Amino acid sequence: MQQIAVIGAGTMGNGIAHVFAQNGFKVNLIDVSAPALEKALQTIEKNLDRQLAKEAITADVKTQTLQNITTFTDLPAGVKNAELVVEAATENVDLKLKIFRELDQHTAPGVILATNTSSISITRIAAVTKRAGKVIGMHFMNPVPVMKLVEIINGYATEKEVTDSIVQLSEKLGKVPCVVNDYPGFIANRILMPMINEAIYSLYEGVAGVAEIDTVMKLGMAHPMGPLQLADFIGLDVCLSILHVLHDGFGNPKYAPCPLLVNMVTAGYLGVKSGEGFYKYEKGSKDLVVSERFS
Ligand code: NAD
Repeated sequence: MQQIAVIGAGTMGNGIAHVFAQNGFKVNLIDVSAPALEKALQTIEKNLDRQLAKEAITADVKTQTLQNITTFTDLPAGVKNAELVVEAATENVDLKLKIFRELDQHTAPGVILATNTSSISITRIAAVTKRAGKVIGMHFMNPVPVMKLVEIINGYATEKEVTDSIVQLSEKLGKVPCVVNDYPGFIANRILMPMINEAIYSLYEGVAGVAEIDTVMKLGMAHPMGPLQLADFIGLDVCLSILHVLHDGFGNPKYAPCPLLVNMVTAGYLGVKSGEGFYKYEKGSKDLVVSERFS
């Protein structure tokens, strides 16, 4: 396998393209938005420069990595020669189903179609194709060049050889693959999101403040960041949407999103990306400042 197509050049897509290209694969990076492609290339170059400064790579690797990436705005042209597709477009069910129908049509029949979805059922995505056995979840973590884990998700119909080949490929990328089955939230988000929701409930019920909750979890459980800071980093809208998937998928009230989270998302307080969530983010400042609403 040498030629990879990555669909979506946002936060995850540019990281996935970077990692494949750095490991010698040819990557067609595809996005409907030309500015997104341009921004992705700039981000990849900036991240390669950071690796270079740390002497984690050589200047030759940087040049070769950038040369391995070609950008496309046209999906059929970008996937035509692909031996594997990794889809990392916006997290929206209808959009993913549409993309997978197109991928099924425009790639050779044996090609594995992987999705980086955080929460959408792999089985459901696979069902719109004529090759359900070749569809699999390949869930990278953010930031992709740094995080070691790839959560590999078997859809109900995924073939064993397909799983084995994605496991081997992940190892080739220097990652650590973990194979799980396709139930709501897989493993990563099924465990992470209820923890984040519980932290928000603790704040909402006045058990403790933002800094106290995060400090208890950081220093007490050796987490690198507290759950409220992590929620801000992931995006509160993303957390809410994954909790909805867990709540709908299991029909269990324990996954009901905290009303404070719902209010914050409705009001546009989404965390780092909007400038404020549980913390306030000033451009250029690395200080962690609790939002005035909670201080
Ligand atoms: P993003 O919004 O940063 O990027 C999505 C990109 O997809 C955009 O550039 C958009 O223009 C593009 N796009 C939309 N429709 C398209 C189409 N039809 N064809 C091609 N490109 C299209 O999103 P993201 O955070 O990179 O998330 C991408 C996927 O990765 C989602 O499924 C998300 O659940 C998953 N994911 C995200 C994270 C994270 O921390 N951000 C972590 C793990 C998995």
